Amino acid sequence: MQATTASALIAKVMDARLLDLLAEWRAAGGNIADPAAHFARHAPHLLVIEAEPAGNRYVHYGAAFTRHFGADLTGCVIDVLPADVLPAERRGMLEFEYAYARQVGRPLWRSYTAPFDGGRVETWQRLVLPVGGGWLAVGAYPTACGDRDDEATALLRLAIERVPVVLGEDGGVADLALSLRDFCDTRQHVAELEVLATRDSLTGIANRRHFHHLAGLELDHARRMGRSFALLALDIDHFKRVNDTFGHAAGDEALRAFVAACRLCLREYDILGRLGGEEFAVALPNTGRDGACVIAERLRHQVDEVVVRPSHGHQFGMTVSIGIACLDRGDVAQADVSALLDQADSALYRAKAMGRNRVEVADASQSASGMVD
Ligand code: GH3
Ligand code: MG
Ligand code: MG
Repeated sequence: MQATTASALIAKVMDARLLDLLAEWRAAGGNIADPAAHFARHAPHLLVIEAEPAGNRYVHYGAAFTRHFGADLTGCVIDVLPADVLPAERRGMLEFEYAYARQVGRPLWRSYTAPFDGGRVETWQRLVLPVGGGWLAVGAYPTACGDRDDEATALLRLAIERVPVVLGEDGGVADLALSLRDFCDTRQHVAELEVLATRDSLTGIANRRHFHHLAGLELDHARRMGRSFALLALDIDHFKRVNDTFGHAAGDEALRAFVAACRLCLREYDILGRLGGEEFAVALPNTGRDGACVIAERLRHQVDEVVVRPSHGHQFGMTVSIGIACLDRGDVAQADVSALLDQADSALYRAKAMGRNRVEVADASQSASGMVD
């Protein structure tokens, strides 16, 4: 009785074309030798993925995907896709979904809302189907949201926006794909721990550890592909005075306002992290020295415009000093994220010494050798 209700609910929320794909998968018993041929009706919206120890290889890439990414990615490996095609965070999400679906051998269903083709915000539903031999077939369709949903339907829509849902044998929701580890008894707990482990609790952006991880992925990628990459180190000026004058709570509010201002200036695939206290960093994939200077100046200006209005007390503003370090093209043996951040830090301290509220670039000779003492 309950299973019927659950599958009826899924039928209501799942895109009709994905329902069709799921039915074809069920009819074949989940074992499909040639998924591209078997699901030929869905070809423009179908992605077939081959499991590889070093990454997920896209074998067949449908027309809809090509249109969305602006490039034919047939044969590409997720791990080496450029950041402007697949930013590190999304890449991590896809790798997680693919590994999860393969491990549990069940379909995974989720939706994803983002700016697609030309910046239009759309919701796409995705269905990941394990088809045997470590292969996956993925269907994705743009889907309209129901505007007169009942509570259960709205809740299911919300769930698939937040986390991939594992579909059970009985046609209902069997599980939420939260973590590959320990997902039987402490699911909620593990999800919370994952957030705690990666996010800064005050501002919600990447914490120091997670920033190093994400920036490291982008830096490796830039080096392999011979692309440019820059790091910014940011430190709010005289922040101690803010706390001393307006109180710690107002200081916290200023930190949140600072992050909001930074976000306005950054692209979707730039990585913003809080390294600690009033110190932040930004990783800029595909960005050379000139581009980094433009973005840093934009950040500096945007922060200068912020007016913090604490719930108690007077309003106030703030300024930031910024140091820039760039990866030199073709410099294969060069520094990791920590070493690049050290260079950006030296530039930052020069900016502080030169009067604050300014941008300084690390000496090019330092970044070339990476051996300055
Ligand atoms: P400078 O221009 O040289 O960077 O001066 P500064 O005062 O910003 O630098 P300093 O390192 O002396 O002080 C940093 C201050 O940031 C001290 C600390 O009270 C404050 N701070 C660090 N973390 C937090 C936080 O989470 N909330 C609040 N409200 N303040 C914080
Ligand atoms: Mg500081
Ligand atoms: Mg400071």
